[in-house]
Amino acid sequence: MIHTLAAMTGYTSCPTCAVQVAVCAEHRPSTFPFCSQRCRNLDIAAWADGTYVVEGRSLALQEDDVVMSDDEYAQLRQRAAVLRGRHG
Ligand SMILES: [Zn+2]
Repeated sequence: MIHTLAAMTGYTSCPTCAVQVAVCAEHRPSTFPFCSQRCRNLDIAAWADGTYVVEGRSLALQEDDVVMSDDEYAQLRQRAAVLRGRHG
């Protein structure tokens, strides 16, 4: 006998939307412990987002070393021109 809340109540909470999901094999959804495919996808998407954010950041840093937008380039040239004007 397993004395967990899920075993006692026969339900557990969907990790995504906290709706009650049946635990017993007869009633639980194929997406268990998620209540639906949608909630399962949302959870996977949340994990994927976190991964992509981390990867995106390091990628962006690498790109910043060699690539800048036209605006940034214009600003940099402007700043350089001002500096040259002051020191030249
Ligand atoms: Zn759900």
